[in-house]
Amino acid sequence: MRNIGIMAHIDAGKTTTTERILFYTGKSHRIGEVDDGEAIMDWMEQEQARGITIQSAATTTYWKGYQINIIDTPGHVDFTAEVERSLRVLDGAIAIFDAVRGVESQTETVWRQANRYHVPCVGYVNKMDRMGADFFFVLDDVKNKLKINTAAVQIPIGKESSFEGVIDLIEMKEIHWENEGEKMILSPIAPQREDTAKKWREKLIDALSGVSDAITEKYLSGEEIDPSLIRKELRKAVIKREILPMFVGASRRNLGVQPIIDAIIDFLPAPDEIRPAIGHIIKKDEIQDINIPCDPNGQPLGLVFKIQNDREAGSLCYIRMYCGTLKSSSAVYNTGKKKRERANRILRMHSNKSEAVDSISAGDIGVIIGMKLAQTGDTIGSEGWPVLLEKMQFPEPVISISIEPKTISDSDKLKDILELLSKEDPTFTTKENEETGQLIISGMGELHLDVLVTRILKEFKLGATVGNPQVTFRESINKENTHTENFSKIIAGKENAAGITLHVQPAARGSGNKYIYAAKTSSGKSEIPSEILEAIERGVSGAFSSGIVMGYPCIDITATVTNVQYSELTGTEFAFEACASMAFDETCRNAGPILLEPIMAVDLFSPHDFVGDVMSLVTQRGGHIQSMNSKTDIDEIKAQAPMEKMFGFMTSLRSVSQGRASFSLEFSHFEKKSER
Ligand code: GDP
Ligand code: MG
Repeated sequence: MRNIGIMAHIDAGKTTTTERILFYTGKSHRIGEVDDGEAIMDWMEQEQARGITIQSAATTTYWKGYQINIIDTPGHVDFTAEVERSLRVLDGAIAIFDAVRGVESQTETVWRQANRYHVPCVGYVNKMDRMGADFFFVLDDVKNKLKINTAAVQIPIGKESSFEGVIDLIEMKEIHWENEGEKMILSPIAPQREDTAKKWREKLIDALSGVSDAITEKYLSGEEIDPSLIRKELRKAVIKREILPMFVGASRRNLGVQPIIDAIIDFLPAPDEIRPAIGHIIKKDEIQDINIPCDPNGQPLGLVFKIQNDREAGSLCYIRMYCGTLKSSSAVYNTGKKKRERANRILRMHSNKSEAVDSISAGDIGVIIGMKLAQTGDTIGSEGWPVLLEKMQFPEPVISISIEPKTISDSDKLKDILELLSKEDPTFTTKENEETGQLIISGMGELHLDVLVTRILKEFKLGATVGNPQVTFRESINKENTHTENFSKIIAGKENAAGITLHVQPAARGSGNKYIYAAKTSSGKSEIPSEILEAIERGVSGAFSSGIVMGYPCIDITATVTNVQYSELTGTEFAFEACASMAFDETCRNAGPILLEPIMAVDLFSPHDFVGDVMSLVTQRGGHIQSMNSKTDIDEIKAQAPMEKMFGFMTSLRSVSQGRASFSLEFSHFEKKSER
C-alpha cells in the first residue's frame, strides 16, 4: 500500500497528471481534460468553473498488485490548510515542476511543509513539450532553491514540440509511447544519444555512491551495477530524503506517466516503512509522547484529516488509520472531545464511485459516515487509551468580509452553514460584531473568501449581501506596564468582588500571546480555588482575542498575573473573569498600544517586455521589491507589500501585462502599520 500526494504550483499539471494516473491504473473510463472542465478529481462545480482544485479528495486505485491512495493537495496558497492537512497523512509525494518555470513560489512553500512532515518525494518535470522547456535547467533550479540533492533517473528525448520520449538511466533503455500513451515501447538507446545517456547515468551513480556503501563498492571495483541494486539503494535514499530522483514527461501528451506510477511503488514508502506517528498521552499535568506502531491488531487509532459535507450522506469524515482496525457499525471514541460516536458505514473512495467496506486497518485511508462531532484534526481512538495524535498547525486569517442574509428568517440558516463550513476548514473563522450584530468571516486571502462566499450563495442557495474585503489587523503593545484592577458588583443582593494585578510586556514578533500565572498565594487564609484560577485565565484569553483599542485580535503580548486578591465570601468566578478581562484592557491601554498590519510576500512572473510596468505597479501599492531573477522566457520578481493595498491586484496586473504576468500572494509577517 502507498499513501501519496501530488504537490505542485498551480498550473504545473497536477490535475492533468492525476487524471492520467487514474486512467492508466484502470479506474477511470476516459481521460478528462482540465481545460474542458470535466476532470474527475475536481468534483465541485466551482472548482470546475475555476479550473483549480480546492478540495483534497482521497482516491484509491491499484497498480501491479499495490493499493495506491492518492490524496489530492491543492496548489494555491490560499488553501494552505488543505495542503497541511493532506501532507499530515501522506507517506510520500510526487513533486511536479513546470519544465519552463522550474521552482515557483508555492512549490517552495509546499516544500517547506513537506520538510516539516518528513515526506519522501520523487520529482516530475512536466510540460516538456512546451516552448522553452528545459529539463536540465529545472534540475539545477531545484537543487539551488530547494537545497536538495537531485538525481536524474531519466533524461528527455527531444524537447518542446519534438519531445518524444525518455531515456531510463537505471535500465539504460529508451521509452516511447504509442496509442494515446497506453502502449509503452522499450528499445535500446539510439547511438547518437549513447554518450549523453552514459554521462547522466554516471552522475546518477555518483549521487548514489554519496549515500550508499553498496554502490560505492561496486563502483570502485569497476563492476557493472545491477538495476535492481540501484533501485534498492535509491529507495533507501528517497525515504531518508537524501536524494530527489527526477522524472520527466508531458502529461497532457500522455508521455511519461507510467514510469511515475512505477516510481510510487519503487521509491515511496509503505505505511510501515516511515517513522512511526507520534501520539501524546495526556496525564494530569504532563504530556507523554509515544510512538504509534503501524499494527492492524493494535488498539484502533486514526486522524480525521478532512470533512466534506454531502447533501445525502451527511458528514464524510476522511480518516487515516495509524493503528488497529476500525469496523463499520461500531462505536468509536473522539479522544479530544471525550465523546463516544458511531461509525455507521465505512467507504473507500474511487475516482468515480464509492464502495462500502467492512473495516479499515492501520496505514489505510477511508471515509466514515455517521460521525457528528468530529472536526478536522480530531483523533478517533478507544476509550481506554487516551492518545492524541499531533495537532496540525494552521496560519492566521488575514482578511475578512461581512455577510448579511437578505431576509431575517435566513439568519439562523446562515449561522448553521458557517458552522458547517468552518468544521471543514479550520482556517476560516466567523465572528459576530457585538455592536452591529453583523457576521464577519475571515480567511487566508481574497480567493479563499470568494470561494466560501460562492459556496454559501450557490451550493447552499442562501441570499446574502456581502461587504468589501477588509484587512484583519492585529493589536499589540510596545512597552511594559503593571496595573491593579478591582471589581465589585452586587447581583441579587450578593457582592461579587475580585482584585487582580497584571503585568503586560511586548514579546518578540511572531512569538504569540502568553499567559503566565505568578501570583503569590498570600491572600487570606485559604488557597485560591482552581475554578477561580481558571476564570482568571479565561478572562485574559478572552481579552487577547477581543483587542485593546480597535477590537482586532492581540498578538505577541505576555500577560502575567502577579497578585490576586481573593475572599472566600465575595470571590466568584464571574467577578474574576470580568476583572481579568478589564485588567487586561486597562493595563494594555497604557502600554503603548499599536496597530499591526499583515505584510504579504508577493511573487510575480512577467514576460521581459512588461517587467518595468509590473514593478512600478507593485511600488505604487506600497510594495518593496526584494529580488529579480531572469528565467528562460520570463522574469521572477519577489516583493513584500501590505495586504491592505493588494486588493484587486490581479485585475491591475492583467491590464498592465496584457494578461501575461501572474502572481501569488502569501502571508509573510505582521508589521507596525505605517505610511509605506
Ligand atoms: P494544476 O493546476 O496543477 O492542477 O494543473 P492542470 O493539470 O490543471 O494544468 C494546467 C494547464 O496546463 C492546463 O491547461 C493543462 O492542459 C496544461 N498542461 C498540463 N500538462 C501539460 C503538458 O504536459 N504539456 C502542456 N503543454 N500543457 C500541459
Ligand atoms: Mg488542478
